[in-house]
Amino acid sequence: MEDKILVLKDIKKYYTGAQAVVMGLAGVDLSFSRGEFVAITGESGSGKSTLAHVLGGILPYENGEMYFRGSPTSHFDSLDWERYRRDNISFISQNYGILPGATVQKNVVSALLLSGMGKREAKGAAEKILRQVELWELRRRRAAKLSSGQKQRLSIARALAKPAPILIADEPTGNLDAENSAKVIELLAQAAKDRLVILVTHEFPEAEDLATRHIVLRDGLVVTDTPLRPANEPGAIRAPQRKKRSMSLYVAGLQTGSRPIWAATVAAFFALTAFAVFAFLGVFIINLDDTSTYRYDSSAFPNGSKTRIVVGTLDGSPMTQEDYDALLAVKEISSLEPNGYVTDVQYAYREGIDYQVSVNHEQAGPWGEQHYVTSHATVNDSAPYAQTIPLLPNGREFLAAGRLPENFYEVVAGPGGPSIGQTIHVGFYAPAKWSRDNVIWLDFRVVGATGWGKGVYFHESVGRFLMSAMQVTQTTHCYLPQDPEAAEPLEKGTFLCSDAEMENLNRVSEVTLTLPVTDPALLAQGTTELTLVAKDRSSPLRETSLHGLSNNRLLMVDAESFEALTGGLASEQVSLTISDYAYTDRILERIQSMGYIATSPYRLGATKQVPELAAERMQTLQICLTALIAVVALQIVLLRALFSVQTESFRTLSNIGLTSRTARASVLWQMMLFTLLGQLVGGAAVWMCGCNGVKRIEQMLRYLPPVYVLVLSGVHLAASLLSALLVIRSMEKQVYPLAGKNRDLNLEEGKEENR
Ligand code: ADP
Ligand code: MG
Repeated sequence: MEDKILVLKDIKKYYTGAQAVVMGLAGVDLSFSRGEFVAITGESGSGKSTLAHVLGGILPYENGEMYFRGSPTSHFDSLDWERYRRDNISFISQNYGILPGATVQKNVVSALLLSGMGKREAKGAAEKILRQVELWELRRRRAAKLSSGQKQRLSIARALAKPAPILIADEPTGNLDAENSAKVIELLAQAAKDRLVILVTHEFPEAEDLATRHIVLRDGLVVTDTPLRPANEPGAIRAPQRKKRSMSLYVAGLQTGSRPIWAATVAAFFALTAFAVFAFLGVFIINLDDTSTYRYDSSAFPNGSKTRIVVGTLDGSPMTQEDYDALLAVKEISSLEPNGYVTDVQYAYREGIDYQVSVNHEQAGPWGEQHYVTSHATVNDSAPYAQTIPLLPNGREFLAAGRLPENFYEVVAGPGGPSIGQTIHVGFYAPAKWSRDNVIWLDFRVVGATGWGKGVYFHESVGRFLMSAMQVTQTTHCYLPQDPEAAEPLEKGTFLCSDAEMENLNRVSEVTLTLPVTDPALLAQGTTELTLVAKDRSSPLRETSLHGLSNNRLLMVDAESFEALTGGLASEQVSLTISDYAYTDRILERIQSMGYIATSPYRLGATKQVPELAAERMQTLQICLTALIAVVALQIVLLRALFSVQTESFRTLSNIGLTSRTARASVLWQMMLFTLLGQLVGGAAVWMCGCNGVKRIEQMLRYLPPVYVLVLSGVHLAASLLSALLVIRSMEKQVYPLAGKNRDLNLEEGKEENR
């Protein structure tokens, strides 16, 4: 039996259909050797194809035993059958079994590569075979464009390319004219020189002159088995050289490359799903932060600008230039306001915009006192917040024109603000720190312009002045330095207005104020307190300098005293401006890791949720989630449909030795590559939408921390993998019906075939 490569003993094969069980083979006993050229004939439905497929290890049999090289095969599992096919069988079917999208040459080369041949070797061997089947001239033509005769010759070329000991051809000449049929039979006869060639045909005469044996089947049984002439004496078996090399990427390329339009469609589809996943999931994630649905409570930090971050040292010690430099070096911090408290003081300079003036007319009293008029300014809540000249990160120019303020009364104006040379009338007010009516009015001269931020920027001394106003004196006392350009320079310890002016004012009295000294120089001299004599002016001084300071005192001191009071006041709290609220979390984390305390006033103050905004947010979340699920479901369903076009090619490739494992991996490869490509294109599209002002996407791009890009592409990848899994499953079911089935069990029960 050793010289018999295949031996069948009482082989039965049933097809279990929905209604009935059909007998394919009804007990076949046959044996075959290499060198034979066997022609199998019989009427249609007699079981020729069934026999061919059983011999080829493509269909399982239910009864009997098939021996391959003397060893039984009934215990084979799917993997064993795969190996059997891969190493021993070349199968040619009536419907050619070629890759229609690939070129003639590629068809043969791919078969050779699949059989384990090296690349260069395969090219040479392919040329030899293509010349043999007279297709070398057409090697660059797509297989789909060949005539049917040429297609069948190509199919044989592919089968011949594989160094398998058994070649099975199921009606290879069925579609061919006589001339082409003769060529095909001639090729098969040559192939039989060193292998077993089994030819299924219903046209016996065409093989009569070359076949070595003739078997006739009827109703699944062998009727006659006639030797025609001696079989060839085959040489030593060419052991198929198998290189341990994965073909999956190659097969993926073959599947995709031979269908350019299909590939473009799938790529576009992946780009679309990537875009949708990125957009919907991204918006979903940024909406998980519900800060924006809250109303701001200004009790802690009156200025709750979204882009403001307040930073202090852990021990409350003053910050140094080094601290400033370290903070400014953090990415996305666009400016640093050393006088951090100032940013919580509002200022008003545009009448009608920042403040309204109302005039009260007092009635004359019963004894005919002079009636008088007071004007009262109300500062709007929307008035801007004070800022002194900020520090900018390296390389950023603050000043656009003019110069920086050199003293208390000079300012730089931001874009759209007053122009250089103009004098503006500015009222400061800190409702959270001072009683609500207190507004300090001062005149400032614009000396510079900046393109940075908005509003006006004050000299640092204004910052220190307001800080001391808030810190030292609590609510009622303010210290104003001398105006260097005032007509009458003030002497130390005197007031801004003359005595004569004072006499005209109501309820003027003198007060003496003792204040702690903070200037290190003065402290070093042993001075710990500074006494200032000031006059209490409880009523409006004059309209331009004071509005609404009723019952409060405005104390004015000269520049030197002011310096002495506040000069050494280092700031332990600075305000940072970040380029976008989106970076808040990242920057807070960063600054805290640098060893500072940092807080976002906006976050801190967002305490009262607005129901409408909250509802809107919930809706956005729901829409995004629903859309996301829909996209993922659509991707899975559509991809399964799109990939079904590959089934036939997989079947063809499996006939010449593509294992299910490699096929699976090749689907996975395609999915991965398409996913990558789709993500690149989809990501670029998201980016472009962001740049072109699609609001939600623009928001998302800024708010989403970079690591979340990984989350987005991870979710899209997961959806792709899920699709891949389903595609693989349906492909396996159709191409590898034996996969996963253990044929040792229920041998007698006919099993459903998925052919
Ligand atoms: P032939 O190739 O000689 O025409 P087949 O081997 O294709 O014959 O068919 C043999 C018998 O098995 C026929 O009765 C046919 O109807 C049946 N048969 C073949 N394939 C299937 C199948 N997939 N499912 C059910 N019955 C089948
Ligand atoms: Mg048939």
